[in-house]
Amino acid sequence: MKKRVLIVGGVAGGASAAARLRRNSEEYEIVMFEKGPHVSFSNCALPYRLSGTIQSANRLVLMSPEKFKSQYNIEARVSSEVLSIDKYNKEVKVKNLLTGEIYKEKYDKLILSPGARPIIPNIPGIENVNVFTIRNVVDIDNLNKFIQKLQADARERAEFENGHIKGAINIPLSELRERVNEIPKDKTVYLNCRTGQRSYNAVLALQHLGFNNVVNITGSFLGLSFYEAYNDKLKNRESILTNYNFK
Ligand SMILES: Cc1cc2nc3c(=O)[nH]c(=O)nc-3n(C[C@H](O)[C@H](O)[C@H](O)COP(=O)(O)OP(=O)(O)OC[C@H]3O[C@@H](n4cnc5c(N)ncnc54)[C@H](O)[C@@H]3O)c2cc1C
Repeated sequence: MKKRVLIVGGVAGGASAAARLRRNSEEYEIVMFEKGPHVSFSNCALPYRLSGTIQSANRLVLMSPEKFKSQYNIEARVSSEVLSIDKYNKEVKVKNLLTGEIYKEKYDKLILSPGARPIIPNIPGIENVNVFTIRNVVDIDNLNKFIQKLQADARERAEFENGHIKGAINIPLSELRERVNEIPKDKTVYLNCRTGQRSYNAVLALQHLGFNNVVNITGSFLGLSFYEAYNDKLKNRESILTNYNFK
């Protein structure tokens, strides 16, 4: 009878062990458990997803469970967390994280390659939504979604044309109701107006409509103009505004 090898962890260590085992012998039945949704992805390339060099998170994933099966005859079970090991009976308890089903699997050999978890220091505020740890494709996707932002300006058109944040779109508060479809839900949307009052109202209206990704820039365009003009001159840097407007 074929010997059964179970592997806990399906990224660099686990996937390499599985592939090496198969290259050495056809005699093993190999099952690899990964609690995340992906096996064998490139951690080292995660930063390139943020820079945009790698355009889609899918391209970080090197192998799929289907490829493991067809190329190596290895069963890779994703979203499957190994909860415990019973070394006397040589079995592990596994939870299917998608269905909640818990089952046992017997092994002859068990390989543990569960990697590590980022340490989260006990600093007040660390639980905030804008604090991230980066370990896998899901983490980088979440961070990437967070930093993908849209700048929207709630002033009237003439005010906008007199000067605005470069790259901003203009959705005057008076047109918000008709143009709400232009506000994406998958990006953080920063709103500004002249003093912060109209953009504050826009944020409230959007939140009422179910947007939880909208942020008012306090100080708004007037404050930005003063701050940016001062710093641009002082530091000789390129302005982020098309024009300052101090009125
Ligand atoms: C952003 C970043 C950049 C990096 N760049 C480089 C680089 O340039 N060069 C380099 O050499 N290294 C780099 N590394 C480090 C390298 O990625 C790691 O050393 C390597 O991934 C470790 O592999 P591993 O399989 O031991 O652990 P991991 O990659 O952590 O994989 C372990 C897997 O086990 C799973 N797991 C844990 N417990 C269970 C359980 N109970 N049941 C089921 N599954 C479980 C986890 O979900 C995880 O996916 C980088 C790492 C990061 C995060």
